[in-house]
Amino acid sequence: MKQTNLSIFIPHYGCPNCCSFCNQRTISGTKEPPSPEDVHKTLSEQLPVLKEKDMTAEIAFFGGSFTAVDREYMTELLKTAHYFVENYPHQYNGIRCSTRPDCIDREVLDILKRYGMTTIELGAQSMDNEVLSLNRRGHDNEAVKQASALIKEYGFRLGLQMMTGLYGDTPEKCIATAREFIALGADCVRIYPTVIIKGTYLGELYEKGEYESFGFDETVDLCAELLGMFEEAQIPVIRLGLHSGGDFDGNILGGVYHPALREIAEGRMTFERMKKNMDASGAKRFKVYTDRRNISRVSGHKKENKVKLSNLGYSFVITEENGTDLRIEAVP
Ligand code: SF4
Repeated sequence: MKQTNLSIFIPHYGCPNCCSFCNQRTISGTKEPPSPEDVHKTLSEQLPVLKEKDMTAEIAFFGGSFTAVDREYMTELLKTAHYFVENYPHQYNGIRCSTRPDCIDREVLDILKRYGMTTIELGAQSMDNEVLSLNRRGHDNEAVKQASALIKEYGFRLGLQMMTGLYGDTPEKCIATAREFIALGADCVRIYPTVIIKGTYLGELYEKGEYESFGFDETVDLCAELLGMFEEAQIPVIRLGLHSGGDFDGNILGGVYHPALREIAEGRMTFERMKKNMDASGAKRFKVYTDRRNISRVSGHKKENKVKLSNLGYSFVITEENGTDLRIEAVP
């Protein structure tokens, strides 16, 4: 049975902040927070769809800062979701939410526990205090550390979200953030290269010429490195790059937004691994063994790995091998 998330957007509602990059209304395309009745309707409507597709979903409260919303409203949403998890466990097998690190304490975690929350994702964005402050996050990295520890102590799965290319950011700071995520024991992560959206503080800075995010190629290189780090630490990257909805696309001023960003970054990561291996071998011709699902990573986006390695004097053929990530053999 396939696993998915059924996302319910709680747009900007309850958020005490106005981060430099955020315009939640634009991102979600939704203006009013859904009522518990709306959520009940959505979950009911999705039941036959999930059954037909043989899928199980976690009910995901995303978009704003779930634990910062009015307690009564949050509890009603949780009760609604919990009802479906209790009564339709084959279709709904958990509840997850995203929130701010400084909106986590024991009182709220007790409530989430009571209503069957399984995963809590923290929008950490960076572990660098200067980046956090320049981007008006309103919390420091200590808040991320404390909230993460508390979430783990309660037995929830911990998700950590980071951004790359924020105001004042550098690739080195992003790498350091990833290292800290690993040390904090993240169970999953999301990586969002900054997209500069109209109507945000970053948008203003960009229009005044005072800020530009990382370039596309720099972002791909960085994301390839981050993917490699998390893969090595066996932490799934459940999302790379923003997905859009509503009128988001028409509001992009700059930054990196590409529908195939993950595929491109995975290809780049694999290119670096192949190149390192081939450089070290002293040979020029190779067989590359990989599982069927990794073939596009090995070839690279639009076969760019083949072309780049060939420009370096290497040639290779791909051979499918079940369960193999990457194995390279020199051939005479
Ligand atoms: S905390 Fe989240 S919802 Fe609130 S402004 Fe920042 S990014 Fe947007």
